[in-house]
Amino acid sequence: MVTDNVNFINETVIGQTLEKAGRRDGQAVRAILSKSLELKGLGMEDIAVLASINDPDLLDALFDAAQRVKETIYGRRLVIFAPLYISNLCGNECLYCAFRAQNVSVRRRALTQAEISREVEILVKQGHKRILLVAGESYPNEGFDYVLKAIDTVYGTTVGNGEIRRVNVNIAPLSLDEFKRLKAANIGTYQLFQETYHRQTYGRVHLGGKKRDYDWRITAMDRAMQAGIDDVGIGVLFGLCDWRFELLALMQHIRHLEDTFGVGPHTISVPRLEPATGSDMATHPPKPVDDVEFRKIVAILRLAVPYTGIIMSTRETPNMRRETFALGVSQISAGSRTNPGGYAEGEDVADEAQFSLGDHRPLDEVIADVAALGYIPSFCTGCYRLGRTGQDFMDLAKPGLIKEHCDPNALSTFLEYLLDYGSGTTRTAGETMIQKALSEMSGESKRRSEAMLEKVRQGRRDVFC
Ligand code: SAM
Ligand code: SF4
Repeated sequence: MVTDNVNFINETVIGQTLEKAGRRDGQAVRAILSKSLELKGLGMEDIAVLASINDPDLLDALFDAAQRVKETIYGRRLVIFAPLYISNLCGNECLYCAFRAQNVSVRRRALTQAEISREVEILVKQGHKRILLVAGESYPNEGFDYVLKAIDTVYGTTVGNGEIRRVNVNIAPLSLDEFKRLKAANIGTYQLFQETYHRQTYGRVHLGGKKRDYDWRITAMDRAMQAGIDDVGIGVLFGLCDWRFELLALMQHIRHLEDTFGVGPHTISVPRLEPATGSDMATHPPKPVDDVEFRKIVAILRLAVPYTGIIMSTRETPNMRRETFALGVSQISAGSRTNPGGYAEGEDVADEAQFSLGDHRPLDEVIADVAALGYIPSFCTGCYRLGRTGQDFMDLAKPGLIKEHCDPNALSTFLEYLLDYGSGTTRTAGETMIQKALSEMSGESKRRSEAMLEKVRQGRRDVFC
């Protein structure tokens, strides 16, 4: 069932809710935080109250609650992926992005299928199993088929034991028919950020091309879900408009998807504006989000939608990434390049990149760091390949049953990484982490994990449950 309703973002209600929230006291905040520990999520009013916290003790209490919810639901796992930029051609004029059509300081390039395959080989040799395919909104002559061919190329590229097992996609909104073809191409998640939910701001920062149409973009997830893509990822580009407004609007989007399709988004992304070649707006965001506010955003989202993944990209620095792992992040990119061809040719081709990165470390270094912090890097692709998506995933996640799959799958894919791609030091740190994780497990999860790890040690690959 799809709705004709494009007005599910109600700015008046958001304004009134924020206005009321500012008048609530510390007791109200603590009551909301203890409610959040029941893992049932929070409503708009609660989120507005948490967003208004300034008192340092209450802020600590917020971070503490987020950490508890994160650990209860996600344990110590962190899913790892890499973006794959296939083209920087674009017909739009998003004032914050280096790929915007009129930016002459960026060299334009759409990778050939052979070049895409070369990029994938490099990612596979690094140990990646999940990629996020990214493109500007303009494709070479074959049009949208270019993207479908690129997905086939990614899945068809193998190197030794390795291959990409899940392709998520971040491309411009499609028609219903095109979404059906995207679904048939076997994608994992379809990801699209509204950038800003504030209609007037949206109009001010998108000056040309198809992306000017707010309604076409806000309804994209409806068409994707109607086409059968039940894992969708939403997000806001923080820095364009007041972050408190955006948080409440995100919630209205989530509720709309839940009410219409029975399930909300699979992930939420929280990109912050980063400097981009040829963009004054990217260097001077209209509504900058400082580091404390950024941590608050992650923590509030963790409490508001406890079962929805939160993605942290390499836009952020290693330190900020580390801090937000504890507050609720469940997926991270690593070793990223945002210029098409960047894995083969390096990041020095910065005049083709979309924005500056905050974390330049190679995958192996990120993995060693994550393991040293006590997290288990996971390359798992089990759920989507066993059809545990959308509602089926949530039905397992909400009663806490998904852990029985996630924990063993994280350990087996991590071991696969260590044995096939890890450097000596990373392997040592990783093996210690695996033993520690096993010692903290019990019952079926432990039995399953030990059996799967043994298979990987004996040479089996792609072991998942
Ligand atoms: N072109 C498609 C679109 O705009 O939806 C998809 C890919 S676009 C390259 C991916 C995302 O990059 C955008 O949705 C936007 O949020 C983000 N982005 C653009 N410029 C950015 C900047 N200067 N800093 C951080 N993120 C940026
Ligand atoms: Fe093009 Fe996307 Fe960049 Fe906008 S954000 S200019 S649509 S690539």
